[in-house]
Amino acid sequence: MRYIVMDLEWNQPLSTRSSLYRRLGSRLMFEVIQIGAVMLDEGLRMIGSFNQFISPSQYRTLHPRISRITGIRQDDLEEAPEFAEGFARFVAWCGEDFVLTTWGCDDISVLHQNIAFFVKGHPIPPVYDLQRLFGEIAGDTKNRAGLKSAMKTLGIQPSSEHPFHSAVDDAYYTALVFQRFPDPQAVLGHQQSIRKIGRVRTREHEKTDTLRFTSLAQALISRPAQQPNCPVCGKRANIPEGYVMMAPDRSRALADCPDHGLLFIDLILEEDDQSRVQVKRTALLSDEQSPAYIKTKHLQWAKKVAAARQKEISA
Ligand SMILES: [Zn+2]
Repeated sequence: MRYIVMDLEWNQPLSTRSSLYRRLGSRLMFEVIQIGAVMLDEGLRMIGSFNQFISPSQYRTLHPRISRITGIRQDDLEEAPEFAEGFARFVAWCGEDFVLTTWGCDDISVLHQNIAFFVKGHPIPPVYDLQRLFGEIAGDTKNRAGLKSAMKTLGIQPSSEHPFHSAVDDAYYTALVFQRFPDPQAVLGHQQSIRKIGRVRTREHEKTDTLRFTSLAQALISRPAQQPNCPVCGKRANIPEGYVMMAPDRSRALADCPDHGLLFIDLILEEDDQSRVQVKRTALLSDEQSPAYIKTKHLQWAKKVAAARQKEISA
């Protein structure tokens, strides 16, 4: 039996207000533009890799953000086959008798939606989640570690030959992580369920608290900023990437509640009616909780945080 580690990149509509998105969005929210995969034998030795660009036939223009994150350019996709053909090549490469794995659960939902849209009725093998197995091994099943953080934990160095957020390179790094797992077959205990992707409106949840700080800098390093409470359940949420200063008196971060998903956290410096300076913290649950949306948001945010830090260093 062989293991296949798969990673996908996808395009998103240029605007959620476009007529194209309004027409297709509920059936096709993201369009796959790259399938990357690495094949491992039973002893977890890498025995092959697969890299296929796919030309989007619906959301044809590559979103600048996606291009920035993945390094994929419109040119890369011009000569590529459309999804049905690209996916058929992947299926042929996989062969028979394999266990399909990914890091995290967004890819399977996006893949499922693309298959349903472009090659209706094509069977999909079960997909197993290496991220959840990593959490189990690390003794922290609630925390969904990013691939980079898992690599750091395991002492795996990224190399310039393999840039992050290219599907085949992310699959390669995921395979390196997988190779460190004591029992590869344990992944069979973590089958992914497919989540429906689409615009889901949840009830608006927003909560505002006043923090007793007189500067934003102090507030930013405090517990209420670093582990803000989820506005729905009150549990402490994680901030994987950090804060970005939006204005001199305002910083924002993305947080994750293990039960409720993506939150926006704002810290705002303001004066109360007695001219005392205080920091207001607002936690807002995102009304968009599809896994692919959350992944995209976090990638964008990580870039923003890195850019803000770079600016600080060069200033
Ligand atoms: Zn919560």
